[in-house]
Amino acid sequence: DEDQALLASDGGEQSYETAARAVGVLAVVGRPNVGKSTLVNRILGRRAAVVEDTPGVTRDRVSYDAEWAGTDFKLVDTGGWEADVEGIESAIASQAQVAVSLADAVILVVDGQVGLTASDERIVSMLRASGKPVTVAVNKADDHASEYLSAEFWKLGLGEPHGVSAMHGRGVGDLLDVAMESLRKAEKTSGFLTPSHLRRVALVGRPNVGKSSLLNQLAHEERSVVNDLAGTTRDPVDEVVRVDGEDWLFIDTAGIKRRAHKLSGAEYYSSLRTQAAIERSELALVLFDASQPIADQDLKVMSQAVDAGRAIVLVFNKWDLMDEFGRQRMERLWATEFERVTWAQRVNLSAKTGWHTNRLSRAMRGALESWDKRIPTGKLNAFLGKIQAAHPHPLRGGKQPRILFATQASTRPPRFAIFATGFLEHGYRRFIERSLREEFGFEGTPIQISVKIRE
Ligand code: GDP
Ligand code: GDP
Repeated sequence: DEDQALLASDGGEQSYETAARAVGVLAVVGRPNVGKSTLVNRILGRRAAVVEDTPGVTRDRVSYDAEWAGTDFKLVDTGGWEADVEGIESAIASQAQVAVSLADAVILVVDGQVGLTASDERIVSMLRASGKPVTVAVNKADDHASEYLSAEFWKLGLGEPHGVSAMHGRGVGDLLDVAMESLRKAEKTSGFLTPSHLRRVALVGRPNVGKSSLLNQLAHEERSVVNDLAGTTRDPVDEVVRVDGEDWLFIDTAGIKRRAHKLSGAEYYSSLRTQAAIERSELALVLFDASQPIADQDLKVMSQAVDAGRAIVLVFNKWDLMDEFGRQRMERLWATEFERVTWAQRVNLSAKTGWHTNRLSRAMRGALESWDKRIPTGKLNAFLGKIQAAHPHPLRGGKQPRILFATQASTRPPRFAIFATGFLEHGYRRFIERSLREEFGFEGTPIQISVKIRE
C-alpha cells in the first residue's frame, strides 16, 4: 500500500489541520553558530528530510509543524538566516525579536564550549522584556564530561540551564519536556493561532506593491505610518476591516504597515512575518504591482500561500498607472508566470484611487466557498468513473492503472484520496484536477490529490 501523496498543484504533502490542534508556537533563538539549525533538525527528525526532498516545496521556510510526545506545536527556526558582520549585534537581537514576537515560548540556545558571551546577554535582555517563557539549552555538551559547561549559565537568571548535544541528540528529550510544559502554560497572546469567528485574511506581497495603501483604502481612513527603527518590531496586530459591508479579520497589520528597511536580513524578517500571517489566515490576498515587472519575490510569496493550502485571491494593484502597452504585458505574464494558479481569481484594482476595490469581497467569498467545499462521495465516484471511461490512464508495462474508489478526505483546502490499481502518472493527476475543477468549480483554492495504490 504505497502512498504517493502529492499536492496536485505541484507542492508537497502538508498537514493543514495541524494549526488547529497545535498547542502553540515555540521559537528557537540564539546567536549564530550555537547550533539552532542543528537543534531544529533534531527536533523535526525525519520530517525535516521529507520536507527537503519534496520538490516544489518552499525550502527557506521558517516555521514547521512539529510534534513531541504526542503534542503538536509550531517550531520557528531562526537559524536559516545569516547576519553580515556589520551591525551584527543589532541584527541578531532584532532577528530574535521578530521570532519571539510571533512565539508563545522560546528555547534560547547558547554554546557551552564557547561559554557566556555579550551577545547572549543582549538576547537575554530582549527575551526578558518580552515576558515570554524561556528554556535555556546549553548546546555542544556532547558527553558526560561536558556536564559542567552548563553551570555558568545559571547566571542568566532564566532558571536551570539544560545541557544538550543537538548533534548527537543527548539531553534533547528532557529539554523538550520542559519547553512543552512552558508552552502549555504560556498565555497565547500572539503567534500563529488566533481563534475568531471572523474569516481570517493575510494581505501579502513584496514591499511597495501597495499593501498598506490597500488596507487604508479598505478601512477608509488614513493611518499614520509608524516609522519603526530599523530592526525593531511590534507584536502582530490583527484588525477587523469592513470590506463591502462584511467584516474580515486582517492578520498582522502591524507587519503590513512596517516600512521596508535596509538592515541585512530584512528579507528574512519579512518572509517570517509573511509566513506567520499566511499560517494564521484562511485566505491570502496576494498583491502585485501591475506597473512593474513580476519579480521572483512576488512569485515566492504566492507560492508560500499556495503551498500552505490557503484560499487565494490575486490582486493586481496600481492599475491606474497602466496604459495599453502595460495591459498587454500583463496578459502575457498571466499566461506564463501564473500557470500554476490559473484557478485563482484575479482582481485588477487601484488602492490609490479605490477603483475596483469593491470587487474584492466577492472574490474573497468565492475563494473561501471553494476552500470549504465538500463533494459527496457518490457524486465524486460517479464523475471519476465517467472521466475514466472517456479518458483511461495510458498503459504502463502492459497494465492499465485504474481508479477503484475516491473520497474527499477533508476540506480547507479540499483534499481527495484516490485508490488506484497502479501508479497514476503526473499528467493524469493534472487531468483529474482539471476535470474536478471544471465539474465542481474550485475557483480560488488549491486542491490536493493523494493516490493510494491497491494491487
Ligand atoms: P546556527 O547558526 O545557530 O543555526 O548553528 P548551526 O546549527 O548551523 O551549527 C553551527 C555549528 O555548530 C555547526 O558546525 C554544527 O555542526 C555545530 N554543532 C551544532 N550542534 C552541535 C553539538 O551538539 N555539538 C557539537 N560539537 N557541535 C555542534
Ligand atoms: P507596501 O510596502 O506593500 O505596504 O506598499 P505601500 O502601500 O506603502 O505603497 C508603496 C508605494 O506605492 C507608495 O508610494 C504608494 O503611494 C504607491 N501606491 C500604492 N498603491 C497604488 C496605486 O494603486 N496606484 C499608484 N499609482 N500608486 C500606488
